[in-house]
Amino acid sequence: MNASEIAERTKRVLAEVPSHVTVVAAVKTRTPEEAAAAVEGGIRHLGHNYVQEAAAMKEHFPIDPASVQWHMIGHLQRNKAKKALKVFDVIQTVDSHPLLDVLERECAKAERTIPVFIEVNIAEEQTKSGILPEDVPSLAERTAKAPHLRLEGLMTMGPPVNDPEELRPFFRKAAEIFERLRERHPSVKWLSMGMSDSYRVAIEEGANMIRLGTTLFGRRR
Ligand SMILES: *Cc1c(COP(=O)(O)O)cnc(C)c1O
Repeated sequence: MNASEIAERTKRVLAEVPSHVTVVAAVKTRTPEEAAAAVEGGIRHLGHNYVQEAAAMKEHFPIDPASVQWHMIGHLQRNKAKKALKVFDVIQTVDSHPLLDVLERECAKAERTIPVFIEVNIAEEQTKSGILPEDVPSLAERTAKAPHLRLEGLMTMGPPVNDPEELRPFFRKAAEIFERLRERHPSVKWLSMGMSDSYRVAIEEGANMIRLGTTLFGRRR
C-alpha cells in the first residue's frame, strides 16, 4: 500500500473505533514512511517490537518523531533496557521483577519517570512472554513502589486461534485482572489488548487500547 492508502485506511479505522479507545499502530517491518502515513491519518501512538529497529525508524522519520508517543510492545531483554528507555515513551511489556528493577535503576540514573504496563500471559502459554496472571499483583506492588516508574496499564497478547471469538474468555479474564489492578492502583488506566483480527472482541470485553498492524498497513512483508 502507498502512503495515501495507509492514511485513508487509518482515518476509516479511527472513525470506526469508539472514541474512548486509543489505537497504537504496530509498525514492526514497516518503513518510516509507512509509519508516518498512519500518523498523517491521525495516529498518535506507534508501537514497535524491537529496540534497534525503532531507534532507526525514529532517526529516519520523515516528520518530527516527538509528535507521537513510542510504545515498546515486544519482549524486552534486560540488557536492552537502557537503550529502550532512550527510544520509547512507554514500556508495555514489563513481565518480570528483574526487568522492573533494571528499568527503575536506569530511569533513576537518567532522572526521569516513565509509564509502564505489565504484560500478562493470559493463556499461560509455555512459549509466550508475560507474567502469569497469579503473579500480576506482586509485580504491580513492586512497580507502584518504584519511584521512577508509573504503573499505567495491563497488556496482553491472546493465544493463536482460528476464530477471534475463541479469544473472548481470555480477554474477559484480562479485563477482570485489569479492574482489580485499577482498584488497587489508581494510576492504572489502560487495558492494551486486541490486534487486527481480534480488536472488535477485545473492545467488547473492555480494551481501551488496541494495537493494529495489518488493518492499517496491509500484510507484513
Ligand atoms: C504485530 C503486533 C501487533 C499487531 O498485529 P496485527 O495482527 O498485524 O494487527 C500487535 N501487538 C503486538 C505485540 C505485535 O507484535
